[in-house]
Amino acid sequence: MNVLETKNLKKFYGKENIVKAVNNLDLTIKEKEFVAIVGTSGSGKSTLLHLLGGLDRPTDGKVLIENQDIYSMKNEQLAVFRRRKIGFIFQFFNLVPVLNAYENITLPIELDGKKVDTDYVQDLMNTLKIYDRREHLPSALSGGQQQRVAIARALASKPSIILADEPTGNLDSKTSEEVLGLLKLSVKKYHQTLVMITHDDYIARMADRIIRIEDGKIVEGGR
Ligand code: ADP
Ligand code: ADP
Repeated sequence: MNVLETKNLKKFYGKENIVKAVNNLDLTIKEKEFVAIVGTSGSGKSTLLHLLGGLDRPTDGKVLIENQDIYSMKNEQLAVFRRRKIGFIFQFFNLVPVLNAYENITLPIELDGKKVDTDYVQDLMNTLKIYDRREHLPSALSGGQQQRVAIARALASKPSIILADEPTGNLDSKTSEEVLGLLKLSVKKYHQTLVMITHDDYIARMADRIIRIEDGKIVEGGR
């Protein structure tokens, strides 16, 4: 099954839509696939990821998540859908400094008024090798550990899709490889789909498929 699909997707910016950040892009991503999106700076990667994640409305075209046309939804409905289906990971970890690792991981679930599946969260923290760090504040964690906490936070609500924007962009190469290895292990273990933007060719090669974007279009790896 296709978990993610775009149809004639367009996002234009500027006067008379002069900047064609995403330009008539068709993409299909299968359930449980790990896809890396690569391309030079300004090629449209971030814009595409935001559109895939329901964070920004397209100029034209469609994004389908599990066959649902997400931009046919009103903002509030889309926000609920996004919280249920998608986990986001960014370059900067954005952890709450006064909360420990465990509290950071479960915060979005608490804010959503949902019950935390403590067995699952513990398993997740073990998979990401941060269970022994559960009571540490972010300031007492290394960069790689902080990103693993941010990854656990994204996965904690059991979303079917994980969208990651340069998840290793703030880590040295050895730590990047280790963190991405654990992220990959986690999404495979919990049967999630992972779409990741990266500048790093070595990191991209850990994906099942590499999609290269130029000028808002797919030039390699589309289908
Ligand atoms: P990448 O992530 O590959 O670096 P982006 O998606 O960020 O590329 O940007 C694609 C193009 O769209 C660039 O030319 C960028 O300057 C432009 N762009 C992105 N966001 C905006 C915005 N909010 N307003 C105007 N132009 C934008
Ligand atoms: P990243 O690509 O690291 O995720 P951003 O999403 O913040 O960074 O921005 C991506 C690109 O879009 C950058 O090149 C930036 O210059 C451009 N951009 C972002 N917002 C705007 C904007 N409001 N106007 C013009 N360009 C923008």
